[in-house]
Parts: sequence; structure tokens; C-alpha cells
Amino acid sequence: MSGIRAGDGAYDVAVIGYGPTGVTAANLLGAAGLRVVVVERDAEVFSRARAISTDEEVVRIWQRTGLAERLKRDMLAERPLDFVDARGRAFVSACPTPRGHGHPPQMFLYQPALEQVLRAGTDRYPNVEVLLRHECLRVQQDLDGVELTLVDIAGDSLRRLRAS
Ligand SMILES: Cc1cc2nc3c(=O)[nH]c(=O)nc-3n(C[C@H](O)[C@H](O)[C@H](O)COP(=O)(O)OP(=O)(O)OC[C@H]3O[C@@H](n4cnc5c(N)ncnc54)[C@H](O)[C@@H]3O)c2cc1C
Repeated sequence: MSGIRAGDGAYDVAVIGYGPTGVTAANLLGAAGLRVVVVERDAEVFSRARAISTDEEVVRIWQRTGLAERLKRDMLAERPLDFVDARGRAFVSACPTPRGHGHPPQMFLYQPALEQVLRAGTDRYPNVEVLLRHECLRVQQDLDGVELTLVDIAGDSLRRLRAS
């Protein structure tokens, strides 16, 4: 591994991890005009479904990113839900009713597709820089903010960034 590259520039906010939480934060911070760096060790969106549903509170957060209606096009709303035992017999059934928050109370989703839409959303913001295949090894706080030590996995090198 080669020597550390320092002084890549200072950011207002560093987001470590470009999963649903990080990408949502990057969209909100980008819209606020902040200079943001996102650090994600993987090259691609994780390809398997994990989260399977969301509620109206989260959709209201995505509404603030301007992406809620686009995201909802890929979701299934207002479906009854059964928890079943090993024989397939339902032991809990639920059908959430709207609570007046402007979106269905429960929507089923496919996480990789959702993440792709949210990632495309950050392309709207030149002030958001995304570093894929970079792993954050260390975050050190001082009076002015934080210093991140990253490994650039593709380049097999270390670099340091600052964020306030
Ligand atoms: C097996 C499994 C089953 C699940 N099933 C369900 C389910 O049925 N329903 C449901 O609602 N939810 C489910 N989940 C949870 C769902 O996947 C998470 O709630 C969701 O992915 C969390 O999003 P996140 O952005 O907080 O974290 P993550 O999706 O974990 O994203 C974190 C990101 O940070 C990156 N990262 C971590 N450390 C570093 C570092 N040091 N440097 C750089 N990058 C880093 C990771 O590569 C990752 O991309 C499941 C999760 C798992 C693992």
C-alpha cells in the first residue's frame, strides 16, 4: 500500500456508508447546499433484498428529497400482512389503516431498486461527492471537525479527508 495522500479538501459533512440511511442523508444535505462527501466500501448497491417494507413516516422523509412519488411507483401499498407458522397457517394478520399522514401506512419495497433511485437522486447535487470502493478506517475528532482516514480499495492507497 502506498503512502497517505492528505489535504483532499474539506467538506461540511462526511457520510460513512451509502445504504438507505446514508443515501437519504446525502440527498437531504445536498439539497441544503452543503459540501458532502460519501464514503462507501462496496462498488455497487447490495444486490439482495433485505428491508421489505416502509411506513409513511419514512416516505415523508423521502418526500423532502423530492423522490417520494418516484419511489412509490415501485412499491406495493395497502396489502394485508400475514405472519405464518411452519405449516403456512397465519397466526398474526394485520392490515394497517391510514393515519392521515398523506401516504399509505405500509408499503412493500425491493431494497436494491429503492437504493438505485435514491442514489440517482444525489446526481442532482454537484456538491455531493461519492467515493465508492473507499473504506473509512478511522474518524478522529478535534476542535474543528473530523479527520477521516480512508483506504481507496481500487487504488490500494490511503487518503485523508477533513469534514467540519
Ligand atoms: C439478513 C438481513 C435481513 C434483513 N431483513 C429485513 C427485513 O425483512 N425487513 C426490513 O425492514 N429490514 C431488513 N433488514 C434490514 C435492512 O437491510 C436495513 O434496515 C437497512 O439496510 C439499513 O440501512 P442502512 O443504510 O442504515 O445500513 P446498510 O444498508 O447496512 O448500509 C451501510 C453501508 O455502509 C457501508 N459501510 C459500513 N462501514 C463502512 C466503512 N467503515 N467505510 C465505508 N463504508 C462502510 C456498507 O458497505 C453499507 O453499504 C435486513 C438486514 C439483513 C442483514
